[in-house]
Amino acid sequence: MDTRPEACLQRYLKTESLLHHFYTFFDYCSRVCIPKLIAASPGKPVAACCKDRYYQVYDLDHPSFDLLRRERESLYGSPADQPENSGVSPCEYHTATGCLLKDHKSPVCLSFMCRPAIDALREKHGIYTYDYLGFNYALEWILTGDMPEKEWRTFYESLEDMIRKISSKAA
Ligand code: SF4
Ligand code: SF4
Repeated sequence: MDTRPEACLQRYLKTESLLHHFYTFFDYCSRVCIPKLIAASPGKPVAACCKDRYYQVYDLDHPSFDLLRRERESLYGSPADQPENSGVSPCEYHTATGCLLKDHKSPVCLSFMCRPAIDALREKHGIYTYDYLGFNYALEWILTGDMPEKEWRTFYESLEDMIRKISSKAA
């Protein structure tokens, strides 16, 4: 398996794209959580779970993480360059309308799901396979190249299964 940072990042970005696809069907955050927070403080931005600089706090000291950060910053600018912080989150990428990053997020930003969100996934969609820490570590290993290609394919396919399941209920 190619474990150069460039190859690892490609697998990571491919997985990220699939996760974003999953979140287009699982809209608990945007449909339930965020509207509740907005209703509680009308007219003000809300941070929800973006309460730290998660793009860096759990990142590993590894060349693939460095490459992810470089590509992110070439696309979106560095944290110090961000002109529009929401004022409710210490994360510089958090704007009044949420996270600025459409891709190239850190593993924890991509994988985190709070308990109510996981409960909704279980109760509404019958999906019991989403384990936040498990997904976080899987994304880390994909990025560092510690997840063998065969396991990555299995992980990828299980994510596709989750999407099939959630999209069939949403249809
Ligand atoms: S993960 Fe939980 S706290 Fe964060 S936006 Fe979704 S529902 Fe809200
Ligand atoms: S990078 Fe985005 S998802 Fe991560 S903490 Fe900042 S605003 Fe939240």
